[in-house]
Amino acid sequence: MKYEVDQHGFYGDFGGAFIPEILFPNIRELRDNYLGIMESASFQEEFNALLKHYAGRPSPLYYAERLSERYGTRIYLKREDLNHTGSHKLNNVIGQILIAQRLGKKRIIAETGAGQHGVATATVCARMGLPCIVYMGEKDVERQAPNVKRMHMLGAEVRPVLSGSRTLKDATNEAIRDWIQHVDDTYYVIGSVVGPHPYPDMVARLQAVISAEMKEQLPAATGRDYPDSIIACVGGGSNAAGAYYHYLDHPGVALIAAEAAGYGVHSGKTAATSFIGSKGVLHASMTLLMQDADGQVTEPHSISAGLDYPGIGPLHAHLITTGRLKSFPVTDKEAVRAAYELSRLEGIIPALETAHALAVLEKHSFSPDEVVVINLSGRGDKDLETFSQFNESNGGHG
Ligand SMILES: *Cc1c(COP(=O)(O)O)cnc(C)c1O
Repeated sequence: MKYEVDQHGFYGDFGGAFIPEILFPNIRELRDNYLGIMESASFQEEFNALLKHYAGRPSPLYYAERLSERYGTRIYLKREDLNHTGSHKLNNVIGQILIAQRLGKKRIIAETGAGQHGVATATVCARMGLPCIVYMGEKDVERQAPNVKRMHMLGAEVRPVLSGSRTLKDATNEAIRDWIQHVDDTYYVIGSVVGPHPYPDMVARLQAVISAEMKEQLPAATGRDYPDSIIACVGGGSNAAGAYYHYLDHPGVALIAAEAAGYGVHSGKTAATSFIGSKGVLHASMTLLMQDADGQVTEPHSISAGLDYPGIGPLHAHLITTGRLKSFPVTDKEAVRAAYELSRLEGIIPALETAHALAVLEKHSFSPDEVVVINLSGRGDKDLETFSQFNESNGGHG
């Protein structure tokens, strides 16, 4: 089985670039140049220097002693929460903006739902002195006020989108409209392993630094060359793709995904695409998505904004349908419980998204000598309000 993207941008049956003809010049320019740029010495040097001195990499691979004791196995946390801006998202944005500069682009656009990708993009644009425009549904602008303030402070322009349901999907449409109108000078930064080829492959390669570091850190930390399992949460799937990347071709390493089940897989209020999704085109890519009988995309639900997405990236659709990746559904409640547990056992408050990955420990048992790596995708400061509200209305966890 092959897990690399082919020359048409497919992972098996999934992927490709289902774009309107008018977008073809934009996509072609990126497709023809991204690999050459990423392999160039100048890119490698600048990317690695920024990851080290600006993002704060390498992130530690931390042995979670008390959590390990609790679950009777050896648990290591890959600390992406310690990156500048608090998650793995910065790795991708640094890389894409360096690519944009090498394509001669002078203006950066992005769309954001919860605002995390918008903040990461605004951050790197400030560092590089590039103008940044972030499209955001008007409803999200209201719901995510702190992130809007962050983007403003960083000098970005946030453009509220008033069309449709005034959320992420409408912001995406508006960003694409902008891109079509400014093909010569504008670069569009996508925040996960989704969208038309070459974005999923490009973002996976940029996030692959996570598993590249794991490969270096594991022998000293564990005395082993390979872990037995790697667990990551999947929204679009970029932190998971980065954590799995260098282990895809090692069948001895079990790859495990946590999907947001919301109120439950069959509750009608869920984002568990790998369980109830079917094949179709979402964001210009053939993948698994949640849709009704007429092919209309179903509104997802998750307590976690970063996992509240009706699809998964095409790489993950391929990994799941071929059996390489095993997915577990995690409800809102299970995720919140896991977040309290990590906070109390290890003194680490995880992001709500990340808490879904931690909750897999309750659902699958690992033997005492197994090495389990959990990708700790982000920190939970942004979610404190949600944690405490949920906790109170559910009778408390602590
Ligand atoms: C955005 C986000 C996610 C989900 O995005 P992926 O592309 O699936 O990684 C997960 N964790 C954190 C902390 C996030 O900010």
